[in-house]
Amino acid sequence: ISTSGLVHIYRSQGHDVAALSGIGISVRPGELVGLLGPSGAGKSTLLQLCGGLLTPSAGRLQIGEHHIATMTDAELDQMRSGDVGIVLQGAGRNLIPYLTPEDNIRYAQRAAARGRHLPSPAEVLELVGLQDHARTPLDRLTPGQIQLCAVAVGVATFPGLLLADEPTSQLDHHARDEVLAAISAINSSTGMTVLLITHDPEVAALLPRTITIRDGRIASEGRSGEEFAVV
Ligand code: ADP
Ligand code: ADP
Repeated sequence: ISTSGLVHIYRSQGHDVAALSGIGISVRPGELVGLLGPSGAGKSTLLQLCGGLLTPSAGRLQIGEHHIATMTDAELDQMRSGDVGIVLQGAGRNLIPYLTPEDNIRYAQRAAARGRHLPSPAEVLELVGLQDHARTPLDRLTPGQIQLCAVAVGVATFPGLLLADEPTSQLDHHARDEVLAAISAINSSTGMTVLLITHDPEVAALLPRTITIRDGRIASEGRSGEEFAVV
């Protein structure tokens, strides 16, 4: 991920809301980076821009080879269905409730580019430790297992980049640690780049690098809790 001067403005009931006012960040391939900041800072907006779900109002945004601002809708569709995995906020929002974990993974893989090598559903579930629940109905899984399943669906096409919006919120400590461990293991074993939003200081403390945004601007950046102010 490489951005400079990234701006996003929402048009809301006749007036403009500047959610991002000039963001410059760089995340190298294979990094695991936390995105921090108070509610309303612009974290979700930045994540959605990186995933091609929103189009920047101004500035440069590059994801791998892709220059998001100049891509056609068809190119964005292609990117979303293979190169970038997204886990949205709210447990299981990227899951289809009446499909089993393995069928959710097959469904997520359906639109991936033809000819691309795809892991089997069993391989994907094993990455998050859910191999014994391939056919368990979602309503019989715990909240932690549902979130692990959401992560599995996010990485079903082995994208180069995983974007996760608060993947550990609303979980107890044990489940939170399991989900974080699964994401971290995927990052280190596959080299997948990960950008994740968190509000939880205990989660942030475990991440190798964090970027904090406030009022649509970078407030600080740092490694393992050693944040420094950006002037
Ligand atoms: P969080 O702070 O956890 O990211 P928010 O409460 O800011 O969540 O946003 C929740 C949802 O409401 C998001 O989909 C966001 O796009 C939408 N939203 C937030 N603020 C507004 C607004 N002023 N007008 C319309 N939609 C909004
Ligand atoms: P965060 O994820 O850090 O809570 P968001 O990116 O959700 O922040 O929101 C940043 C700002 O943009 C907030 O002021 C929010 O109200 C506003 N916003 C978010 N989504 C929308 C939307 N769909 N329409 C209008 N304003 C929005």
